[in-house]
Amino acid sequence: MANIPEEFHSLETSETFKNCCDCGCELLDSAQMYMIQKCFSNGECVMEFALCDKCKEVLDGQISSESKEAIYDFLFDNTDINEQKEHQTQADAMLQIKECFTCSKKMCDCKSYTYSGLFVGTHLIPGPLPIMICEDCQEVIAENMSDHTRDVKNKFYEENFPGPPSEVHLPDSKPVFL
Ligand SMILES: [Zn+2]
Ligand SMILES: [Zn+2]
Repeated sequence: MANIPEEFHSLETSETFKNCCDCGCELLDSAQMYMIQKCFSNGECVMEFALCDKCKEVLDGQISSESKEAIYDFLFDNTDINEQKEHQTQADAMLQIKECFTCSKKMCDCKSYTYSGLFVGTHLIPGPLPIMICEDCQEVIAENMSDHTRDVKNKFYEENFPGPPSEVHLPDSKPVFL
């Protein structure tokens, strides 16, 4: 039985995520896919959430196709997708988040970064995700986004994370959904 890597545990509860942050549905005993995303700023985790496939689809559906194209163009222009190997093990797949997907900057050299992974139950799904994107690359992606997409994202963060944690400021370039 696979275990969810610690990188994808909730820092708030020190446990695995159990429910979708949006609809509250049960994640671990369900066959549906879900995404975990964590955002670090200056070495501190400023945001973390698990989002079920249904809620993710609803969000994705609101993002304009130009923005999606801009995101994918950026990601895939900057990466040799053929270089991606088949990931046999979870440990191999986890190596992917040790470097920025697009510029290969190492996580330990990044002050701020975001990473996401896809899961079913306690299984990490290997593939293009898990993925880590450094702050610099996130900014480039954010610049290519339409205002509408930015609004959709901001609304999502406002609704699910009322009031940013005191002291910490969320990075201007909020994480991207993938
Ligand atoms: Zn949900
Ligand atoms: Zn980068």
